[in-house]
Amino acid sequence: MLIKDVSIMEDGRLLRDVNIAIDGSRISGVGSGVADESGDGVVIEGSGMLAIPGLVNAHTHLAMTLFRGYADDMELLPWLEEKIWPLEAKLTAEDIHWGVKLGCLEMIRSGITCYNDMYYFMDETARATKEMGLRAVLSGVLFDMRPDLIEDAEPFIRRWKNDDLIIPAVGPHAVYTCSEETLSRALELAERHEVMLHIHLSETRSEVESFEKNCGKSPVEYLDSLGFLSDRVIAAHCVWLSERDISIIAERGVNVAHCSISNHKLASGIAPLDRLARAGANICLGTDGASSNNSINLFQEMKTTAIAQKCAHSRPDLFGAGEVWKMATENAYAAFGLDLGLRAGALADLSLIDLRKPWFFPLTEENIVSHLVYSAQGGVDTTIVGGRVLMEGGFIPGEEEILDRAQQQFGDLVAR
Ligand SMILES: [Zn+2]
Repeated sequence: MLIKDVSIMEDGRLLRDVNIAIDGSRISGVGSGVADESGDGVVIEGSGMLAIPGLVNAHTHLAMTLFRGYADDMELLPWLEEKIWPLEAKLTAEDIHWGVKLGCLEMIRSGITCYNDMYYFMDETARATKEMGLRAVLSGVLFDMRPDLIEDAEPFIRRWKNDDLIIPAVGPHAVYTCSEETLSRALELAERHEVMLHIHLSETRSEVESFEKNCGKSPVEYLDSLGFLSDRVIAAHCVWLSERDISIIAERGVNVAHCSISNHKLASGIAPLDRLARAGANICLGTDGASSNNSINLFQEMKTTAIAQKCAHSRPDLFGAGEVWKMATENAYAAFGLDLGLRAGALADLSLIDLRKPWFFPLTEENIVSHLVYSAQGGVDTTIVGGRVLMEGGFIPGEEEILDRAQQQFGDLVAR
């Protein structure tokens, strides 16, 4: 496959009239004179488009896309207790299937090619994701209340560890829902199978305060005392951190999945990203579930992250567009060990964005990253994962059916 005469970004600058050759699942060449050697004869006309490497959604619960708009504008605990948990108790594999596919549509339309998820029915999530052609790091959520989930964590890894698109991981929900025994089992499993650990960490003030009262340690100190924290960990939220917590996170190489919009909408707080960044922590971006966002869109997440941090510190110079762009791309590639990027040899996960949109004008060689972070409102035309075209010219095969089935499935779920 050859993407012809497309623009790319090199060191933050716009470079026009480049060819990208794809052979099988990988990029075989990027440059002005690059030709297609795959022999498949497929040509995608790239003029007027910008090729970007795949964006990575570092924390979500994708099946919750089915809950979008179901319960908004509530306090966290009543929101969970009165709305989300009762609905979750009724979930079936079929709900998951259509919720995940709906979420995949939104990600394909916004340039996300890989997502990191923790939820129920992960085999169904994996199957639906593969049918949609996206890449995903998946962990079945672990709670003490549901010992059956813990029993399936290792078989789940075995079932998916050799898959080309699904990367299995272990997902203990949080320190306040998992005992020391569950956390230690999760850690042991992740180390033995060399997979990631995905956990919610220090999301709300009340959660951290009550944990400290009971345990005498912050959630971060506690996890560190168990030997849990390393670069194997992706920790979602990290909003309420002490100075000591921040240095532990940075020293251990923990990857932070910052979820700016979810934290804002649930009024959880503004994460100390500036101090985490200064300490050297690896920061990625996540949307969280559509029940608390309500979009699965990293363009919105990048803009919100940048402007919230600037405002919180009265420092417009903090978190420039280039730094935030890295959080959605390179930082996440490092966190999840993904061989991605627009270069020969990398996996062919990329999107083409239509530059003929008002929000990309006026366009210069220098302002492309600014436009992507502060101005872009979508305009993703084509999305490719592992060399497979998932959307071309804005068309995703099967989209209409997925929309109708998701609508119907939501109706069935609330009436059940
Ligand atoms: Zn979450």
